[in-house]
Amino acid sequence: MNKPIANDTLTQWDHDHFFHPSTHLGQFARREMGNRIIKTANGVHITDREGRSSLDAFAGLYCVNVGYGRTEIADAIAAQAQELAYYHSYVGHGTEASITLSRMVAERAPEGMNHVYYGMSGSDANETNIKLVWYYNNILGRPQKKKIISRWRGYHGSGLMTGSLTGLDLFHKKFDLPLSQVVHTEAPYFFRRADRTMSEAAFSADCAQKLEELIAREGADTIAAFIGEPVLGTGGIVPPPAGYWEAIQKVLQKHDILLIADEVVTGFGRLGTMMGSDHYGMKPDLITIAKGLTSAYAPLSGSIVSDHMWQVLEQGTDEFGPIGHGWTYSAHPIGAAAGVANLKLIDSLDLVSNAGQVGAHLNRAMAGALGDHPNVGEIRGEGMLCAVELVQDRDDRVLFDAAAKVGPKIVAAMLDRGVIARAMPQGDIIGFAPPFSLTRDQADEIVKVTHAAIQEVLG
Ligand code: PLP
Repeated sequence: MNKPIANDTLTQWDHDHFFHPSTHLGQFARREMGNRIIKTANGVHITDREGRSSLDAFAGLYCVNVGYGRTEIADAIAAQAQELAYYHSYVGHGTEASITLSRMVAERAPEGMNHVYYGMSGSDANETNIKLVWYYNNILGRPQKKKIISRWRGYHGSGLMTGSLTGLDLFHKKFDLPLSQVVHTEAPYFFRRADRTMSEAAFSADCAQKLEELIAREGADTIAAFIGEPVLGTGGIVPPPAGYWEAIQKVLQKHDILLIADEVVTGFGRLGTMMGSDHYGMKPDLITIAKGLTSAYAPLSGSIVSDHMWQVLEQGTDEFGPIGHGWTYSAHPIGAAAGVANLKLIDSLDLVSNAGQVGAHLNRAMAGALGDHPNVGEIRGEGMLCAVELVQDRDDRVLFDAAAKVGPKIVAAMLDRGVIARAMPQGDIIGFAPPFSLTRDQADEIVKVTHAAIQEVLG
């Protein structure tokens, strides 16, 4: 990417009119960076209009979990569009697809979580979750219990509230975020722990202790919920240290603080288990789902509500009337049809276990090829997630100067060799989150290209 290839009308319009997210707007407008127009995709490969094919080792934005070009989902979308492209889901309305999908999600959710509210994106699903938490505490007569604890390096979206929950500088800078209702706590980032003599268990206990201290400072009666991804995603693909979720949940239970598991990345198989909550023994009160719900064939997200919260929501509407929350596109029939077809496909192709097995192979092979490289600080992952963190000095764990852009340079060198990886923010971290349908040979190809690109950039 980033090399101007063509200079035709489409490129002209792109630079003149298309406001790209997460893009350096000035450089793009001045054409200091080029565009890439994607034309087709199949399996784990995307192809641009110049005919250049790339192995997409990040599944779009870790969302095309079943891989590209699945006719089963495309056909379900087309059939739904022809039969009924839209009807709303307000005041008890629904469609066969939205009701069936709700049942399928409930069957895959942890026990005691049986209702699903639908949105279009992970961000709006998290906005919904925070509103539900506030509503819940208002109905229970504790209007002061409203603050939300999130983690530094967490990623929960880029809306006003969700951008606040996100714990990455870029998403706050110049946007007047975070909002005052959000407080951040320590990231469970074992590799970057301040005290390198700490074991994983000791570091987990320390994270729980820091959470205790934050709660004590803020006052437990002001804190409504804690939100976290089972594995930190955009913040660096960081699986939790041993015992982390157990230690954190003990603190939350003690102070009557709800747990929101943001499973936008981990939901529906990415860790080699259906849900990340089950993988780590988390007992959330709300779960956020998006990406893997439809494998991004249509935009659809959801909030899975636990039975005990649901009872309070029912009580609220008995006392105050219908819940004042809804989107025009909640449970959009086309998204719901895509979701049903996607979840069926994941089952029929056994993609969850493939994600676990081939993901483990990818992580092992990456460690085998790069584990001894003097600039590789850590290789970590879980299921079909993997990250390679680069450092200037491995023994003293000295990071590269951000201005050297080591991570982006490696990712660019990989793209030249036909593999898409992602340079994660706040560090030189190369992220991998391929489709679940990845084969071992394709995993080996990713490793080979990563190795060659690191050699090229760092020697
Ligand atoms: N939550 C997590 C864990 C995510 O990774 C993301 C996006 O990457 C979101 C929420 C936001 O989802 P969306 O971009 O669909 O709004």
